Amino acid sequence: MTIHFPFQNTYSALPANFFARVAPTPVAAPRLIKLNRPLAVQLGLEPDLLSTPEGAEILAGKRLPDGADPIAMAYAGHQFGHFVPQLGDGRAILLGEVIDRDGVRRDIQLKGSGPTPFSRRGDGRAALGPVLREYIVSEAMHAMGIPTTRSLAAVVTGEAVMRETALPGAVLTRIAASHIRVGTFQFFAARGDTDGVRALADHVIARHYPELKAADQPYHALLAAVVARQAALIARWLLVGFIHGVMNTDNTSISGETIDYGPCAFLDAYNPGQVFSSIDEMGRYAYANQPRIGLWNLTRLAECLLPLYSDDQEKAIEQAQTILGEFPEKFTTAYIAGLRAKVGLFTARDGDEALIQDLLDAMAKNAADFTLTFRHLGNAAADDAADVRAQFTDPAAFDEWAARWRERLALEPQSPAERKAAMHAVNPAFIPRNHRIEAVIAAAVNNDDYAPFEELLTVLAKPFEDQPHYAAYTEPPLPEQRVTQTFCGT
Ligand code: AMP
Ligand code: MG
Repeated sequence: MTIHFPFQNTYSALPANFFARVAPTPVAAPRLIKLNRPLAVQLGLEPDLLSTPEGAEILAGKRLPDGADPIAMAYAGHQFGHFVPQLGDGRAILLGEVIDRDGVRRDIQLKGSGPTPFSRRGDGRAALGPVLREYIVSEAMHAMGIPTTRSLAAVVTGEAVMRETALPGAVLTRIAASHIRVGTFQFFAARGDTDGVRALADHVIARHYPELKAADQPYHALLAAVVARQAALIARWLLVGFIHGVMNTDNTSISGETIDYGPCAFLDAYNPGQVFSSIDEMGRYAYANQPRIGLWNLTRLAECLLPLYSDDQEKAIEQAQTILGEFPEKFTTAYIAGLRAKVGLFTARDGDEALIQDLLDAMAKNAADFTLTFRHLGNAAADDAADVRAQFTDPAAFDEWAARWRERLALEPQSPAERKAAMHAVNPAFIPRNHRIEAVIAAAVNNDDYAPFEELLTVLAKPFEDQPHYAAYTEPPLPEQRVTQTFCGT
């Protein structure tokens, strides 16, 4: 018997140059580390079957489920601003698509499942550490309500992968609305394959933006829709202190999900210029630079779509520029609305932006923890300001700001309790802090101990609840625990 997945594949029915047909490479001794049972149910899969040895073999790529039509997708991309005409799934294989319980089509992809024709010099494998990091952070993002790919399972392969040292190999099962990226469009555009760009755009519209099919100019409407989703997404990132770390065009999803958790990290102390990734030497993908890079990536998408607009390229460019020109306002509107909610404002008034900016400036100057400052500010709205004051090296800096904040709050009728509840619903207490992730990885890799991983997942599943039992997880790192650099881990 082979476990059945209710596949309904569409991408593998696109023209042959969209992908390479390739099966995962069997591994020695798959062992299931984690199965996301609620997500399995959501996808119409049976968690009990996936938990069997046969299920582990499927999730490790050792055995193909019925109906799978495994492919590696072709894409290109700008990496740190430099165009690479062919990247593609070098260590990921799409098993197929299923329709989930909400009627949404989802990709089921194995990441780390062996070489493909796009592997270049890579081994097609993933190490356990990055697999656990992606599992933790993607599920944490989901719990915070931020669009993201998700993690269905993690397995260890029983094989070592060679990085700087030999590390345990692992495979992540990644779920996405699709794995189509800005770089997928670039793959065809770079080859002058306008038919390919059009076929991809039609597929994307049918899949992610079906309402645009009837638009006057569907391809222009597609650009506008992707611009809107990316602007909203990047605002959400900034509002929780998330730094993606490698916002290349091949890591920019067309569906507007966060994708590719390589060197990502969360802010501890607020610092707009924060960079963690070891390879981001110029700070291209620094925390506060993310909206600007988002627009840069979308401009690359626009360039790909222009040939579909009309023969009048000058007019097409003008139209595309108008949409791209709306990105900063779209981003700022979402970001400011989010910040207003974070400081507990129910209405918009002149002066709010300056008030909020002054708080951010004081946080930066006083090394205030981004997450705890906003979480404790919710308490300060109702009663106790001691904890939020303590985030500032000079608590007087907070007091001065808080006096103005309280004057502003007094203009609204909400009760302190109501305000605190609203603030706690948008300001997480628990984020996947870098030092916690590192500790989880160390326990798993060095001691085969997954208890810390499970506990961290438990905590992060309810980011907005106080969970007093797990209060230690709210805490920023001690100086000696501080993570200063993150790595792609490929
Ligand atoms: P990433 O840095 O994960 O966004 O990957 C960039 C490109 O490198 C993609 O085309 C990946 O498929 C490829 N890649 C990353 N790691 C590996 C690996 N271990 N083996 C083969 N290809 C890889
Ligand atoms: Mg990538």
